Amino acid sequence: MHSTYFPQLSFNCSGPSSLSCIGSSQKRKSILLQLIEDQESSAFWPRRTGNKLSKFNLAISDRNMNYHLILTRQCNLNCVYCHGGETTDNTEIQYSLNDLADFLIKDRTSITLLLYGGEPTLRIPLMTQIMDRVPNARFMLQTNGLLLNQIPPECARKFHSVLVSIDGSREVTDGYRLEGVYDRVVDNVRRLRSVGFKGDIVARMVVSQQSDIYLDVRHLLDLEDPRFDHVHWQLNVVWDAEGNWTDFDSWVEESYKPGITLLVNEWVEKMEDGIIEGIVPFLPVMYSLLTGKSSRLRCGSGLDTFAIHVDGSIGICPISPDWEFSIVGDIRATAPSTLRDVMQVEEPCPSCEEFGICGGRCLFANRQRLWGDEGFYKVCDTVKHLISTLRGQMPRVAKLIEDGQISLDTFDYPEFNNGCEIIP
Ligand code: SF4
Ligand code: SF4
Repeated sequence: MHSTYFPQLSFNCSGPSSLSCIGSSQKRKSILLQLIEDQESSAFWPRRTGNKLSKFNLAISDRNMNYHLILTRQCNLNCVYCHGGETTDNTEIQYSLNDLADFLIKDRTSITLLLYGGEPTLRIPLMTQIMDRVPNARFMLQTNGLLLNQIPPECARKFHSVLVSIDGSREVTDGYRLEGVYDRVVDNVRRLRSVGFKGDIVARMVVSQQSDIYLDVRHLLDLEDPRFDHVHWQLNVVWDAEGNWTDFDSWVEESYKPGITLLVNEWVEKMEDGIIEGIVPFLPVMYSLLTGKSSRLRCGSGLDTFAIHVDGSIGICPISPDWEFSIVGDIRATAPSTLRDVMQVEEPCPSCEEFGICGGRCLFANRQRLWGDEGFYKVCDTVKHLISTLRGQMPRVAKLIEDGQISLDTFDYPEFNNGCEIIP
């Protein structure tokens, strides 16, 4: 118990059952409510579940905040789409764990910490210290998988979700990353399962010109040992395209769009047998189409999801520490409550006919169009194709749900923001 963070509650009682030592019943009640609220809302207290005060759980879970925690800017790979990776000298965290703890304790919500880099597994001792220091935060890991086997099993089992970078087949993965990466990642994911990890393992793909979206997604979905629970992808369309794309337009028309159509059709066909495959970009979009519930920016950046950069500054997004517009605070000076909804996507998204389903795709791209306006709309075209293909299949899916062959709940993914941006 980190009672030093709650001086007002540092009496010698072990919890609500011991409150009889406190004066009047009214006072006991008010302390009890405060204590329960603190326990429910704080990452520093053991989480309570299934108690009579479930209304507290509901209220608080609506107020989740998510922080990408950059453990280092160094990486042990140099993938082709990174163009040489980081060039900064300041790659390591420049704040203390006390600074971090003091910031997080002010966040009165249920916190998710998404460990990120660079490559976060280059700093495993730091990772374990943070997990010990903030024991009741929800942890996600985003890793290239090369050092996954170095994480102590008791630490690995604490993750809610692990997102492992793998781009599809061995040939495609090693072509973008480095020869031998595919085999090592697959071995390490197998090992993660073997040490008793029960959480969600997500294959996280970067999709670029050498990718065949149909074949590469199918390859990862069909792996049996190890098995990925979900497959997610992001198009390689944020950074300068130089050297990565020779003919983006032809690839989209001849490979990507037909591949998406095929994937969607097969995905829905399998539902006839009661199987809903974990294709991340399809699940929540179909959920929105089925329920009519619109979505805001699905990655949450600038809304309820932020990045804590190595210098302690707080950004809207983990990829943009060097863009001034994206820095919205500092853990030593900013109250978490002032961050929520601090930045939202601007035009053309709010006027787009698909805004309620797409949510705006990417706040960084919306503000910093490294591909220019023309490139921005080309990417939108891929998004609209994905949405319209799913919409075309929606009545079939609705019928299967109505007939009881599949459950609507399965489409409501992710349970908590795990770093999947959803819209590729
Ligand atoms: S499709 Fe494009 S313009 Fe429309 S909401 Fe998405 S990102 Fe914005
Ligand atoms: S989708 Fe864009 S804004 Fe969101 S996390 Fe990714 S790069 Fe950042």
